Amino acid sequence: MSIRTIEVICTGDELLLGDTLNTNLAWLGHEVASWGLRITRESCLPDDRNALADALRMALGRADLVVVVGGLGPTRDDLTRPVAAEVLGCALAPSPAVAASIRAFLAGRRLAVPEAAIAIQSEVLVGADILPNRNGTAPGFWCACGERVLVLLPGPPAEFQTMILEQLKPRLLSRLEPQVLRAEIQVSGIPESRVAEIVEDRDLAGCGVGYCARPEGITVRLETTPARAVVLADLAARVRAALVPYALPEGVPSLAAALGRLLGERRLTVATAESCTGGGIAAALTDVPGCSAYFMGSVVTYANAWKRDVLGVPEEILERHGAVSGETVHAMLAGLLSRYGVDCGIAVSGIAGPDGGTIEKPVGLVVIGTAVGPERIVRPFQFRGDRAEVRRRATNAALSQLRMQLLGGALDLPSTIHR
Ligand code: AMP
Ligand code: MG
Repeated sequence: MSIRTIEVICTGDELLLGDTLNTNLAWLGHEVASWGLRITRESCLPDDRNALADALRMALGRADLVVVVGGLGPTRDDLTRPVAAEVLGCALAPSPAVAASIRAFLAGRRLAVPEAAIAIQSEVLVGADILPNRNGTAPGFWCACGERVLVLLPGPPAEFQTMILEQLKPRLLSRLEPQVLRAEIQVSGIPESRVAEIVEDRDLAGCGVGYCARPEGITVRLETTPARAVVLADLAARVRAALVPYALPEGVPSLAAALGRLLGERRLTVATAESCTGGGIAAALTDVPGCSAYFMGSVVTYANAWKRDVLGVPEEILERHGAVSGETVHAMLAGLLSRYGVDCGIAVSGIAGPDGGTIEKPVGLVVIGTAVGPERIVRPFQFRGDRAEVRRRATNAALSQLRMQLLGGALDLPSTIHR
């Protein structure tokens, strides 16, 4: 009765049409990884009876645990309950207890009571355990099928996640048979190829290694079997040490949080002057709880007139060198620190595209300036990608540059041009 393989079936036309991003799968993948397992397979299906019935039969023939997400609502396209009943060969029957709990849920939110919807959502699979849903109306189901388990859960992410953590996980814990032990190291400020070189220069002690590069940084994933915990911990410590200062400290969830920790420790304040990132750097900094200890504020100076009036960038600099230039970013930093009295500053000006590029200043050119008191670093970056990606990359490069500057490592960066 142990659980080693987990299959997920996500249902909903909206997932396949691209209207809803399948965040439940991503969230569950992470959660299951923390259980020492992996999702072994996922299928994403339209709201279609035959497709769901086929997928259920196949998955129940393969996996120890099958999780179906969505299709438990009260509308015509919600088919999970009847199809599961058909595949399992069990009946559907009205449950007065479930109906009462739905009424109580609706009453607690002063919502009208839709009788037809309650009649559908209080139909339960006979023989299954009911998983209460304290964030919504649709209950989930736990169906034991011989050695295997089929679980049906509602699709709205808040309901889905709470039910996994509060209902499913406690029932599964004693049966999970972890297969993988994993350590992750977040790295920021150097290219993936350089990270791989540094990692693979170590003795990996037979552990698996994987990399995931995103605009936010690179994740190094080290894996081994659960019996080799000591070996993995030792390897992770060695890899982390080799990646200093680029590795984020253990347990720090993001680059902005790592920068924030550094500013907090040194009792320094920071502000940002942003053009093409439109406040994205400030948004990343303020994502971190407790940031009021060091983050003072941000000005989004998009137009030249605002760079001049809000930051005091001299008109002749803007005219002679243009808004996207080292000279302008220097002046933005100078104005930010002198006018707003902060210890550290970040200033950014660039061309996010898709229009506005020239041969001399192509789309993706972003000048990033950082200041720690009088010490300034102003560098051009050439980012790739569409507008959104250029903005994300610029945001992260700016956070990384200030962090590296504070750590004294900024000038060691291999290249300012990240292609
Ligand atoms: P359902 O339970 O199928 O009626 O879905 C209810 C809501 O949850 C809809 O807004 C869906 O778009 C959303 N939803 C369903 N499946 C997912 C999923 N895998 N990821 C994110 N949202 C989802
Ligand atoms: Mg649906």
